[in-house]
Amino acid sequence: MPVRLTWTGHATWLVDTGHGVLLVDPFFDECPTASMKAADVRCDAILITHAHFDHVADAVAIAKRTQATVFCNFEIAQWLGKHGVEKTQPMNLGGRVAVPGGTAKMELAHHSSSFADGTYGGNPAGWLLDVGGKRIYIAGDTCLFSDMERIGRPDAHGRSLDVAILPIGDIFTMGPEDSLAALRLLQPKTVLPSHYNTWPPITQDAAAWAKDVAATKLAHPHVLEPGTSFKVP
Ligand SMILES: [Zn+2]
Repeated sequence: MPVRLTWTGHATWLVDTGHGVLLVDPFFDECPTASMKAADVRCDAILITHAHFDHVADAVAIAKRTQATVFCNFEIAQWLGKHGVEKTQPMNLGGRVAVPGGTAKMELAHHSSSFADGTYGGNPAGWLLDVGGKRIYIAGDTCLFSDMERIGRPDAHGRSLDVAILPIGDIFTMGPEDSLAALRLLQPKTVLPSHYNTWPPITQDAAAWAKDVAATKLAHPHVLEPGTSFKVP
C-alpha cells in the first residue's frame, strides 16, 4: 500500500500510512476551503503542530468521537485533557513516538502557539514522519530556519526525505521565496504546498510557485486542490 497524503485545505492533512490514518492539524468546520466536515473524518491518530485555532479547531470533537490518540506538546495535551479528551501522548521537541504505520518525531518550528482562549500552547512544532517506509516532513507553521539542513539529512540507512510539506502563504509563515531556500536545505524528492489560499491575506499563486520550484530542479512540486491526494512514489 503506497503512503497517501490528502490535503483537506489550509494546513490539514490526512496521512494514510497503509496501517492507519494520521490526521494532522484538524481544521474543518470553520475553514472556508475545507473539503470535508469534521463529523466525516476517519482517523487512527491525531497530530498537532501548535495551539492556534486554525490547527486545533476540531481536535476535541474528532478525538472524542474517534477515540484516536492525540500526539502533541505537553501544554496542548493538558488543554485537551481539560476539554474531555482522554487519549493524548504529551511530547516535546526532539521526541519520537510510534504511530500507526511507523514513527513521528516532533521537530523544531519557529512560530507562536496559544489557544484562542488565551491559554499558553507550548512550543510550536513540525513533524518528521517515518511511515510506510517513507520519510515525510511536515513543517507546520514556521519561518525558514537553518536546522532544516539537519532535518533533511539522510537517516542511518541513507534515506533522504521523500516529501516535504511546506507553508507558502507568507505573512504568518514563510512565503514562496523562503520555501525555495527551505528546499535547498531539506532536499526532498517532492514538495507539497500548504497554509495558503484559505483567506485573502495568505492568497498565493500555487501554479507560479510550482513553476519556480521546478526551475530550481530542487524538488518535484505537486500542487493539490482541497480534497485531493498525492501518492508517495
Ligand atoms: Zn496557521
